[in-house]
Amino acid sequence: MAHRIGIISALKEEQQGLVEAMRGTATLSHGNRDYTAGLLWNMDAVCVLSRIGKVAAAMTATILIERFNVSHIVFTGVAGSAHPGVRVGDIVIADHLVQYDMDASPLFPPYEVPLTGISHFAADATFSSQLNIAAHQFVSADFEKSLGSAEKGEFALNNVRIHRGLIGSGDQFVSSKDQLRRLAESLPGLLAVEMEGAAVAQVCSEFGIPIAVLRTISDNANEDAATDFMRFVQKIASPYTFSIIKNLMLGLQK
Ligand code: SAH
Repeated sequence: MAHRIGIISALKEEQQGLVEAMRGTATLSHGNRDYTAGLLWNMDAVCVLSRIGKVAAAMTATILIERFNVSHIVFTGVAGSAHPGVRVGDIVIADHLVQYDMDASPLFPPYEVPLTGISHFAADATFSSQLNIAAHQFVSADFEKSLGSAEKGEFALNNVRIHRGLIGSGDQFVSSKDQLRRLAESLPGLLAVEMEGAAVAQVCSEFGIPIAVLRTISDNANEDAATDFMRFVQKIASPYTFSIIKNLMLGLQK
């Protein structure tokens, strides 16, 4: 089957420049979202902003699959760190995603999405490793030139690391140390928290569509998170996404 890649971000800053980089575009407005289909570095792709939260992300993924027949979905955006080794400016690529606010216990185990038997949704191994290669290319080749030294200094971005592991999603902006500690304690291996990825992963699991999720760390999910998040999203999020998605699109054609 020919590839057609659905690319979702929650916020416009997380996807800045991608639609402009597309050729032969057609945009469909549907259900309060704009889906732009076209060629992105010669790869058939559809870009869309989901807005924030699990429901918003799930409906967007469903439309991409049902109406646009995407073969793969990649989610790219920012997240809060949930682990001391994961720093602002680092990249996290999901191997699994959990809806950390799902709890139908005692009927079902905590975090399990009822009647699916799944709590940790798997990202697609092949697609995620292609995304991992694209992220490594960004760090080793594009990072220096795509970010200004003022930005690198302001956010103390050096030695950007790429982590792979568990991402937690919930309908909360995590901005307290206590809240984060509780989450990290009950979900071993948790690297990052955000608000969409595991919802998209559930939709992809139900439809059998490969998914990969990449998050740049914008904040430490603590009391400073809201300020850090805003500054990071405005200044840093888009060069990461732009280069990594470009590398991914080119890599998929090799
Ligand atoms: N005040 C912001 C709201 C952003 S919500 C606004 O008005 O635009 C945060 C977004 O970034 C979500 O899409 C989520 O996926 C991600 N995110 C970044 N840091 C997060 C954190 N600490 N907790 C939860 N989500 C976070």
